[in-house]
Amino acid sequence: MSDDADKTQDRLEKENAIRRKEMDSIKYIKGTGHCLNCNTKLNDSRRWCDKDCADDWDYHVNRRK
Ligand SMILES: [Zn+2]
Repeated sequence: MSDDADKTQDRLEKENAIRRKEMDSIKYIKGTGHCLNCNTKLNDSRRWCDKDCADDWDYHVNRRK
């Protein structure tokens, strides 16, 4: 076992912990009356105005690693 391998493992675990935290916070986001992606006003508790916005938002969130 080299030190490098240990460091990599350690870092991966930290990154996974951060990612899990982000996933949790995403899961609990409630509808705000506005599309989370384009800010269009919504009349119900949806979080996005359409699937494109949901996909777009998802893409940007996941890219922010
Ligand atoms: Zn939208």
